[in-house]
Amino acid sequence: MAIDPVCGMEVDERSTKDKSTYLGVAYFFCSKDCKEEFDAEPAEYVGDDRKTGT
Ligand SMILES: [Zn+2]
Repeated sequence: MAIDPVCGMEVDERSTKDKSTYLGVAYFFCSKDCKEEFDAEPAEYVGDDRKTGT
């Protein structure tokens, strides 16, 4: 199972159609809404170490 980085749900990567690739890594989503949110701001969701909290 893959984890939807937007909402944290488990997603079956074999059955979902909502998939996106960012920096060479594939991400899977529970719904088109989550995919669209990710696509709008992928760096928000991939746990980039350079992003420090405020
Ligand atoms: Zn989701």
